[in-house]
Amino acid sequence: MTAMNRSDRPLLNRRLAEFGTTIFAEMSALAARTGAINLGQGFPDTDGPEEVREAAVRALRDGRGNQYPPGPGVPELREAVAAHQLARYGLSYDPGTEVLVTAGATEAIAAALLALVEPGDEVVALEPYYDSYAASIAMAGGTRVPVTLRPHDGAFRLDLDELRDAVTDRTRLLLLNTPHNPTGTVLTREELAAVAELAVERDLLVVTDEVYEHLVLDGPGHVPLAGLPGMRERTLTISSAGKTFSFTGWKVGWVTGTPALVTAVRSAKQYLTFVASGPFQYAVAEALALPDAYFTDLRESLRTKRDLLVTGLTEAGFGVFRPMGTYFVTTDIRPLGESDGFAFCRALPERAGVVAIPNAVFYDHREAGAPFVRFAFCKRAEILEEAVTRLKRLSS
Ligand SMILES: *Cc1c(COP(=O)(O)O)cnc(C)c1O
Repeated sequence: MTAMNRSDRPLLNRRLAEFGTTIFAEMSALAARTGAINLGQGFPDTDGPEEVREAAVRALRDGRGNQYPPGPGVPELREAVAAHQLARYGLSYDPGTEVLVTAGATEAIAAALLALVEPGDEVVALEPYYDSYAASIAMAGGTRVPVTLRPHDGAFRLDLDELRDAVTDRTRLLLLNTPHNPTGTVLTREELAAVAELAVERDLLVVTDEVYEHLVLDGPGHVPLAGLPGMRERTLTISSAGKTFSFTGWKVGWVTGTPALVTAVRSAKQYLTFVASGPFQYAVAEALALPDAYFTDLRESLRTKRDLLVTGLTEAGFGVFRPMGTYFVTTDIRPLGESDGFAFCRALPERAGVVAIPNAVFYDHREAGAPFVRFAFCKRAEILEEAVTRLKRLSS
């Protein structure tokens, strides 16, 4: 439906016209109507640690954060973020000038793009990309230049030549995401080194979305791009509490980078939300200081769920890209005799009582994503088992 005003102009402006409704709304409504198991949207069905929830209650009761917190974020959280970057990655950031708290990673991404991109600037992003990237680039007036991750030996990989070719004189920044949603790809140290080399050579800024930094399920663990040679001074690193602590509703995110970069992001951020999530900021400060066992257990639990879903989907006849990170698994529906992920996902609740997301929504080159479908495994094991049982009916 298109509302018109007196000049017959569409209500939604040109920048946002293509972003009318999200697939998540459509699919979640379908899940509600059919009673299907929702493996579409990526939120955990179990809340995060009790002591972190209690920390939020305590902050709220003690009157910490109930009024506007400081614009850059409460000092406790900024210090905790800085301590986390130093202890985990050896990256040193000044909590006073190099850390900014945001309303989730989503606001951090939007504010970074609004701050750094001039209309007409090109932003290179890995395709398929998280859905807010396209909208944020558009709101900033930028032009997105997708570089497609391509299936290769059971995983979606970055073609470094394609990345190189995508950079032009108009490229303002690279927008990176590792571990990568929706493919589950984790860029290797070698790939990151090549990205860093390119960024230095072409003098590019990099915004890197590392919200799944603690969900690297195989291999040596997360490598932050900012730690590579020449990168600290040109990289804005974004993360958030939602995925790491299973509190996606709290919307506490943060940005780290040089004072100049962080100040730029803050200039945009202060007129978006100004501040957000007061008491939750104190709770997340405590969460970041949880003992290692918390992070190891989280990974262990997700590894078990991944293996359960990967095995089940394989037995159900899907082609499966075993994810190295995140809590999503991308599948290929062609072995099931299907080719259109949209049609498949629209029919799946009726056919099998499960909701999934067609990866094509994360592509500009929709045809490149057509046969791929994403399932989330941040759900209780019995839910995943039931989903797998239902999906096996597809091939029987
Ligand atoms: C979930 C997600 C976000 C959003 O994080 P919030 O902190 O909830 O705003 C950003 N990027 C990616 C890749 C995500 O999957």
